[in-house]
Amino acid sequence: MKQLGITTTVPIEILLAAGYQPVDLNNLFISDPDPARLLNIAEKAGFPLNCCSWIKGIYGVCLDYGINDVLCVTSGDCSNTIMLMEVLKLRGLNVIPFAYPQQPQPQQMEYTLQALAEKLGTTLAAAEKVRTALAPVRTMAYQLDELTWKDGLVSGGENHLWLVSTSDFNRDYRKFQSDLQKLIAEYQKRQPYPSDFLRMAYIGVPSVYAGGLYRFVESHRARVVFNEVQRQFAMPEPGNSLAGQYSNYTYPYSIYDRLRDINTEIARRRIDGVIHYVQAFCHRGIGDIIFRDALKLPVLTMEGNDDFVLNSHNRTRIEAFLDMLRLKKLKADHIETYKEAGNED
Ligand code: SF4
Repeated sequence: MKQLGITTTVPIEILLAAGYQPVDLNNLFISDPDPARLLNIAEKAGFPLNCCSWIKGIYGVCLDYGINDVLCVTSGDCSNTIMLMEVLKLRGLNVIPFAYPQQPQPQQMEYTLQALAEKLGTTLAAAEKVRTALAPVRTMAYQLDELTWKDGLVSGGENHLWLVSTSDFNRDYRKFQSDLQKLIAEYQKRQPYPSDFLRMAYIGVPSVYAGGLYRFVESHRARVVFNEVQRQFAMPEPGNSLAGQYSNYTYPYSIYDRLRDINTEIARRRIDGVIHYVQAFCHRGIGDIIFRDALKLPVLTMEGNDDFVLNSHNRTRIEAFLDMLRLKKLKADHIETYKEAGNED
């Protein structure tokens, strides 16, 4: 299959139906043994220091890994992708723009998907068949998510890794499915996490710290049981058609659509506190104002740039946040016990 780089989650059913192998360039960047090397390639080419690391990483990956064809999402992800696309074109790559419709409306989505299918030389009917073929692996991803928040058997980092990888199913959905199936059987034999661990939500774009952030949180008797964007990548509400599935996908749309999903999951997963990750120089960071206003829980906003490990400043902030949440919880438990003992005030 011919590789087609993708700059974020796209309707991969259409790519697969057209005979392409989708390759998520973000995942290649962050899983590279030396991601700083890929940033250097972009900076040497002239990308400014104050440009988001994911954009520079994607550029570095395209050149270093020899990716020749890239599907660039120009609406519904990142405005920087438009200029990245122009630079990739200058370097001789074949770039294909793709824009999510302005509104997550099924009819508009259908037109958009139809146009993409025609551009790639396939049909929506063929892509619907791929959607059916992907249904079991997507169901497995939901199962993994439930093992995380309901059963306490899967770590926040494992949850992040598997869900974020559903954007391209690690370039081979059949292998992804068989690997995940085996792992789920293993996870089901584990002892659950202790019930006194704090339950955290992680919202915002995936961080440059990858697993390090999750491990650090767990080393302080807390764990992430909700990875917002990563879960969305797995298409948790598949609907009855591709148009329905991608209309239910919240990430490309208004922050208020995302908030509805976040608030539902916060209540369902009994979350104690929220980590909002923002990437330096990213327009999405402004959304922090809205999250802080709308979410009823304490929020820790963390900004990452090109430091791929948590620095001591961030570690201290996380520790202080978790201490505060623990005290808050302890106080709430005491009040509850006091009331249960028949005291009114
Ligand atoms: S983190 Fe923000 S600026 Fe960077 S690629 Fe993603 S949306 Fe764009």
